[in-house]
Amino acid sequence: MTTASVLVEALSRGLPGDRVVTDPDVLAAMSHDEAEWAPVGRAAAGVRARSEADVQYVVRTCAELGTAVVPRGAGTGLSGGANAVGGCVILDLSQMNQVIEIDADNLVAVVQPGAINNDVKAAVAEHGLWYPPDPASAPWSTIGGNVATNAGGLCCLKYGVTRDYVLGLRAVVGGPVGYGEAVRLGRRTTKGVAGLDLVGLFVGSEGTLGVVTEVTLRLRPAPAGTPRTVVGAFADLVSAGQAVAQITRRGLTPAVLELLDQACLRAVEDWKHLGIEADAAALLLSRVDTPGDSGAAEAEAIATTMTGTGAIWVEQSTDDAEAEALFDARRLAYPALERLGPVLTEDVCVPRSKVPAMLEQIAAIAARHGVQIATIAHAGDGNLHPLLITPPGDDAARAAAQAAFEEFLDAAIALGGTVTGEHGVGILKRDGMRRELDPGSLALQSAVRQALDPRGVFNPGKG
Ligand SMILES: Cc1cc2nc3c(=O)[nH]c(=O)nc-3n(C[C@H](O)[C@H](O)[C@H](O)COP(=O)(O)OP(=O)(O)OC[C@H]3O[C@@H](n4cnc5c(N)ncnc54)[C@H](O)[C@@H]3O)c2cc1C
Repeated sequence: MTTASVLVEALSRGLPGDRVVTDPDVLAAMSHDEAEWAPVGRAAAGVRARSEADVQYVVRTCAELGTAVVPRGAGTGLSGGANAVGGCVILDLSQMNQVIEIDADNLVAVVQPGAINNDVKAAVAEHGLWYPPDPASAPWSTIGGNVATNAGGLCCLKYGVTRDYVLGLRAVVGGPVGYGEAVRLGRRTTKGVAGLDLVGLFVGSEGTLGVVTEVTLRLRPAPAGTPRTVVGAFADLVSAGQAVAQITRRGLTPAVLELLDQACLRAVEDWKHLGIEADAAALLLSRVDTPGDSGAAEAEAIATTMTGTGAIWVEQSTDDAEAEALFDARRLAYPALERLGPVLTEDVCVPRSKVPAMLEQIAAIAARHGVQIATIAHAGDGNLHPLLITPPGDDAARAAAQAAFEEFLDAAIALGGTVTGEHGVGILKRDGMRRELDPGSLALQSAVRQALDPRGVFNPGKG
């Protein structure tokens, strides 16, 4: 086994002095993401890459020494995907953060993997363009991390997930090409079917097939007009779920359809004092961005559907201030709840007609285990995030939360859903994924990994 000093010496030989991290405190901070209780190994070293050549050197060196490489963007992941495994190198891509090119004629941008999602949005907006994928972590998370997890977000319902916006990639790979070689995958044209879809394979692969060093993104023209917001308040979560199922059934396609329960609203209000009155059990937040009369009709139909499924009150507005406070509450819900104690984040996704049934099951399972939960959801996608909140240092509460977490996964599978809609498998959902996928699918996946990374260098033990 390679000792840390041999590894550090080998890395330092081919990298400028400021790249290699050995300070134990800094290394510990780089060694985990935001996933509560996901196991964290002890990394041997970190590298803050500034170029593709740096990445190539790290991968080549690690492959020669039999050391694992764990890529890392901003570390906002919620599944332990960027957590260190014993003796690994944490490869931090966050300093490769440039927007390299914006091609307004062809609605394309080329960016480095460490570019922050919101920075990319701002850069393309200057050209009248829009990069839609909008995870609630957009102010911090990187495009490389978004690509590796196939991140979703608030507007997936109408505009799709990260995969729908990745035309091409550069990646440093191994296996048949040779460890440390850089390859170009995909294209920059709107269409293209030359060869297998290797870009699709890399998107969502959680750093297990190689390290992404450049991303070619598909853009859209910036949306026109003022969006309309429709907010419905419900006396219980299941009725809110019924409204979601009906909105889908009626073929309505708001850009955003989010659910927040009272616990989330109260936590945000206590922290940020946005002036939200958290008196209902659940709020559904919907945003319609279709311009003109069609948009007005769509907003009205959503409002009518909410009323018809038992909303206590429904409000429509084009006045942004009030609506923005609610959307801020949605974005801030996770950090607001984290202030109350360790939060284990669930990410199940079920067919939309099953949202009410899943919400019922979540309440029943949490009650059976005596676990406190708060629920936020990309409800229009059927993607639910019940957050399990535990008092700090309470081992029994932690064990109960972990047991409930596994039961949520089984309930989602039984309803025809999946254990992870957008956060990825990482470490936390490895067992759940094995319960969900059929054995043939698992065999194909390990064959792909074996072919592309026979030495098990790229993020082993994840996914
Ligand atoms: C407050 C909050 C809100 C969130 N909201 C959402 C949401 O709405 N939707 C959503 O989908 N997620 C959400 N997340 C989860 C998280 O932000 C996403 O998974 C995000 O895509 C992770 O990006 P990151 O840069 O932080 O990646 P990291 O956490 O650093 O890494 C994530 C994974 O990507 C791999 N990776 C990172 N960079 C590369 C690279 N260049 N090449 C290869 N592999 C790489 C890592 O090894 C790891 O497996 C949220 C998280 C928080 C804390």
